[in-house]
Amino acid sequence: MLDKSGFPIELSGANTPMVSFRKVRKSYGSLTVLDDLDLDINAGEMVSIIGPSGSGKTTVLRMLMTLEQINGGVIYVDGKPLTHMPKGNHLVLANERHLRSRRADIGMCFQHFNLFPHMTALENCMEGPVQVLGLPKAEARDRSEELLELVGMIAKKDQHPSRLSGGQQQRVAIARALAMRPKVMLFDEVTSALDPEVIGEVTNVIRGLVSEHNLTMLMVTHQMGFARDISDRVCFFYDGKIEEQGHPSELFGSPQRQRTQQF
Ligand code: ADP
Repeated sequence: MLDKSGFPIELSGANTPMVSFRKVRKSYGSLTVLDDLDLDINAGEMVSIIGPSGSGKTTVLRMLMTLEQINGGVIYVDGKPLTHMPKGNHLVLANERHLRSRRADIGMCFQHFNLFPHMTALENCMEGPVQVLGLPKAEARDRSEELLELVGMIAKKDQHPSRLSGGQQQRVAIARALAMRPKVMLFDEVTSALDPEVIGEVTNVIRGLVSEHNLTMLMVTHQMGFARDISDRVCFFYDGKIEEQGHPSELFGSPQRQRTQQF
């Protein structure tokens, strides 16, 4: 079924991407930041976004986090419109209630970890599952401890963030996001605020998620080596558009476009 502007009310079928941007437009005043962006991410795929500053990389993540409305197009998550809701036979812009109901599908880790300072590592992880998902405390604790184990932070579960290094706080932030069992994980420059000597501990956690857990992930990073090592696909953004995309070996090995080569 098609919306009056030509967008399907739902995507279906075996090949439905986990995330789909369809002709997404975002502008601030006269500045167009995303220009009819089409981007599909398949379930279990790790996609990295690279590109010059101001090219719209973070905006892609912000739109997925439903932090702001888009100006055109539709974003689907798991086949269902995120930015819109069905009304009769067409799609209308999502209201706050719709957005709230979909937000738990998306987990996000930022450059600045934003842990709750008055809570321990464990309490930080339990907060969302208890308050938002309504999980019983015992279940939320089990789930959180499992994830703190996964990110190598179980020994520090009772520490407050101020007692942890930047790398350790970021690992707790990753566990906290995973505790919501999101369908998609977003990573926005998660290593850029870290001291060089602790970057490895965070990239290793993400590497582990890629190799052992079939998560759908979208990452914005300046770390080209890291993007090349772990991504199934790398998208090079330029001026709110995907200038070139492909397997890391193609994009880094033999970039086709001049702008990608220069970058
Ligand atoms: P990148 O992550 O690639 O560096 P961004 O997605 O953060 O780029 O930003 C893309 C463009 O949008 C930039 O020119 C930026 O100045 C502009 N921009 C981002 N957020 C806002 C905002 N809230 N108001 C006005 N302009 C914005």
